[in-house]
Amino acid sequence: MPHRGKILSRALKILFNSSGSQTVNSALILVARSIIPLVAILLIRHYVDTVVNAGSEGLSSNLKSVTGLIASLALAILADDLLQLIGHYISKRQGYLIENHIAALIHTHAVSMGLRFFEDPAFHDSLSRAARDISWRPSAILSDLILSVKGFLSFIAMCFILRDFGIIPLAGLVVIFLPVLFLRLRNSGRLYEVKKSVTAHSRQAAYFSWLLTGEKPAREVRLFDLGKFFEKHFHSSFAASKEPELRVIKANTNYEFLASFVKVMAFAGVLIYATALYIDSGITAGEMAMYLIAFRQAVVYLRDAVSGISGLAENRLFLNDLFHFLDRESDIPINRNISDIHSFSALEAVNLSFTYPGASIAAIRNVNLRIRKGEKVAIVGPNGSGKTTLVKLLCRLYDPGSGDVMLDGVSVSRFDPDEYRRLFSVVFQDFMLYYLSAGDNIRLADSTGSRDKDNVREAAFRAGISGVLENLPEGYETILGHHTGGSRELSWGEWQKIAIARALYRDAPLLVLDEPSSSLDADSEFEIFSELDRITEGRTLILISHRLAYVRNADQIIVLDRGIIAEKGTHDDLMAAKGLYHAMFTKQKSNYL
Ligand code: ADP
Repeated sequence: MPHRGKILSRALKILFNSSGSQTVNSALILVARSIIPLVAILLIRHYVDTVVNAGSEGLSSNLKSVTGLIASLALAILADDLLQLIGHYISKRQGYLIENHIAALIHTHAVSMGLRFFEDPAFHDSLSRAARDISWRPSAILSDLILSVKGFLSFIAMCFILRDFGIIPLAGLVVIFLPVLFLRLRNSGRLYEVKKSVTAHSRQAAYFSWLLTGEKPAREVRLFDLGKFFEKHFHSSFAASKEPELRVIKANTNYEFLASFVKVMAFAGVLIYATALYIDSGITAGEMAMYLIAFRQAVVYLRDAVSGISGLAENRLFLNDLFHFLDRESDIPINRNISDIHSFSALEAVNLSFTYPGASIAAIRNVNLRIRKGEKVAIVGPNGSGKTTLVKLLCRLYDPGSGDVMLDGVSVSRFDPDEYRRLFSVVFQDFMLYYLSAGDNIRLADSTGSRDKDNVREAAFRAGISGVLENLPEGYETILGHHTGGSRELSWGEWQKIAIARALYRDAPLLVLDEPSSSLDADSEFEIFSELDRITEGRTLILISHRLAYVRNADQIIVLDRGIIAEKGTHDDLMAAKGLYHAMFTKQKSNYL
């Protein structure tokens, strides 16, 4: 756990970096609002004494000072209200600025993490806690900070008023509040730990809720009548995520009631004490009123300070979690030794092995291969043989467990990962749909801005989707999907062609197509594969496909089986070898005859 002082200094840094001027303004308002009650109570005392003394002489002789006191009191209350309203706006704005700042920190960090983290449930728990709490924690931290500082300052102001009333009531008050503070700190710690321990259940509940309400699962949920089944799962996860918190709150309520009872008893004692002093003529009526109000306010301010401090203690745990998340280092170290990679002549895998976290068997074992610039390389093999994993390693979405990926004889771990990945353009099997305009769906692949509208059209044309996009109501400007009014949905095959267009649009020397025709009709598939040379414009191509008839022209065919390279060579070599490739090819061929 980061050191307490370090958490505070990092939190203050966030506060000033995100909303420095608001912080200063809030502090000024805070000080002013802490002094106003002091002024108001002193005015009340004068007012009561003036009225009581005027009783015998008649109010008319003191009319000027009475109206002056009333006006001053009204002004003090008005000033307090006005400052409260301004303070409310400033703290809301500050909350928004801090939330925005922390959200940017979380997003930037999440994007910089390697894929491995997204497959780790603990990472998802901490990410989901940070993301879930971000909507209210920053403003809660602010209001707790304001509450505790204002409570403390105002309490000091009340102590100033009560200084002649006697040390015993004040000391008693502090003594009563110490166990309350202790209890609150302990309770807020417990509450946070409970909320933290149920994160996995909350994520489960959110997942089942998405299954019931999301667009993607809607078809199967209806077809297989899964509504009740998922609803049951949602309820049990939801209950598991909420009930422990309720139990802690219930237990805390008993202690809170006990503390409240003690406070009321203390106030009753002070009431009796002040009345006795007044009857003995030790204090005036105005002083009695002042002391009673000041004591009552002192209780309120001390309670606010304690609430603020215990809230801050809970929020410190949140900040601790947040900083813990932000301090997680990516599994892909950012090494900026060599940047500016524009081209290459050979990409190699050397004794490459990789095991997914938690898996007992390696997905890739001792893989050796060499891809020369301009080559067309096909990777084939049964499901689960490691084809996609190999591609992810070559693109450096993971770093290998052992072995290396080398670019022109240099380990790719020496490159800046972002720079290195610019060499690649990929169509993944589970490509993304972006609910943006058709043009943006293609343009997204190139952030350098070096390409233009004609390149978008050209890429769409080569992927065989330009006709469809031009016929949309607003052509390339039409928003795709059905997230917004006026947008148009496409078929899955059309989306896949857009993903291909996106990959072609990127001006990268290495093109990776992972089952690029899985959703295409026979004609489109034929068009794509028979025109591969024209479509890829002579770039180096890594193609994963089950359609062996279409990979026979590849310069190199790599056959993977259970993570190892079973065979490699040209189509003719592999057919002559009569191994796994020969068996797969012959079987597929017989299916088509
Ligand atoms: P292919 O592309 O040949 O179908 P993959 O490379 O996707 O195979 O998978 C290789 C092996 O690794 C399979 O046994 C698969 O279950 C496992 N695997 C794939 N992705 C993950 C992952 N994210 N986490 C754990 N295991 C995985």
